[in-house]
Amino acid sequence: MEPILKSLKLSNVCYDIRGPVLARAREMEEEGHRIIKLNIGNPAPFGFEAPEEILQDVIRNMDQASGYTDSKGLFAARKAIMHYTQQKKIAGVTIDDIIIGNGVSELIVMAMQALLNNGDQILVPMPDYPLWTAAVTLAGGSPRHYRCNEEDGWLPDLEDMEAKITANTRGIVLINPNNPTGSLYPADFLLKVIEIARHHKLVIFADEIYDKVLYDGNVHTSVASLADDVLFVTFNGLSKNYRTCGYRAGWLVVSGEKRHAQDYIEGLNMLASMRLCANVPGQLAIQTALGGYQSINDLVAPTGRLCKQRDLAYEMLTAIPGVSCVKPAAAMYLFPKLDPEIYPIKDDQQFILDLLLEEKVLLVQGTGFNWKTPDHFRVVFLPNVDDLTEAINRIARFLEHYRKT
Ligand code: PLP
Repeated sequence: MEPILKSLKLSNVCYDIRGPVLARAREMEEEGHRIIKLNIGNPAPFGFEAPEEILQDVIRNMDQASGYTDSKGLFAARKAIMHYTQQKKIAGVTIDDIIIGNGVSELIVMAMQALLNNGDQILVPMPDYPLWTAAVTLAGGSPRHYRCNEEDGWLPDLEDMEAKITANTRGIVLINPNNPTGSLYPADFLLKVIEIARHHKLVIFADEIYDKVLYDGNVHTSVASLADDVLFVTFNGLSKNYRTCGYRAGWLVVSGEKRHAQDYIEGLNMLASMRLCANVPGQLAIQTALGGYQSINDLVAPTGRLCKQRDLAYEMLTAIPGVSCVKPAAAMYLFPKLDPEIYPIKDDQQFILDLLLEEKVLLVQGTGFNWKTPDHFRVVFLPNVDDLTEAINRIARFLEHYRKT
């Protein structure tokens, strides 16, 4: 029989966070091994429960959740998002500029599908959250990766960004706060990116899903709050700030120079209609979440669980010979570097697989985030202090063994 082949559209689409190493980890678990997982930014399994207030509200309103809503989402939820954009000083946003989706993931795919023709290019950070690269590719576009500089706290390299612009470039993706590096971009830097977008007539896609997961008193600036003559599509949601990844509640906000983007906005609206509406129980959580007690603040405060875990993971990892790391200012990840003189890794997926097999610790390799050289890995610092300590001790033991062989 002829094999049934997947679409050619998927040929270059890649999403390694849930790739082959995870599949092997699952098999090992089925064989009875306990794996310490530092691979996925999903707070709930690590005891970061959804705020009780949100949970109760969703349960209470479930009887209103059986029908479809407006394709763009529940009015009350969009109103709350509109108020949130006002708090973030994004000007001129109306209810109509907001689309609620099944998580930011769905909306990233929609935003790329609605914009790109075959061969159009989008500037994506390197390293990136790989869904962006995958979504551009799936939409027939071509991701052009601009470098972020580790020695500059992982800030995007503006010269490299500008050098990658061609006549086919349509937009710039900014992931701020950043996954996987944990970096946070200051307003004066964002203004320079806006200048580039303005000059080359590019859309700015701002993924701000970690905008409340901030340490050391840091403050987040929405890039869309800094100009009104560039088109911005800003993404946010409940997954991380409210520890409710499973609710699949995210949104996008169109702002800035909307007048010249009516056709694109129509495209976005059409794709939103085609999938009827986002999951309604998730939508029901939005108003309470945004208006309620912001309990993430307790977790990221110096005495909070997330902050303590960040500090511990950072201290322990950077104490390993040949491992360096920029301390994350935000989000829930570290992206350490392995000195290639000490660890001459050829294939970092194999390296991560060997770590899994030898030490039962699961990470994601740097190349999974479109980082080009096999000398980084990402650590999720969600596990509790005991598990983190155990996991990093095992990583240290594995690296010591690696150095000596
Ligand atoms: N954007 C970034 C930068 C992320 O890290 C993630 C999830 O890890 C997402 C988007 C997807 O979020 P959602 O759960 O809203 O689909």
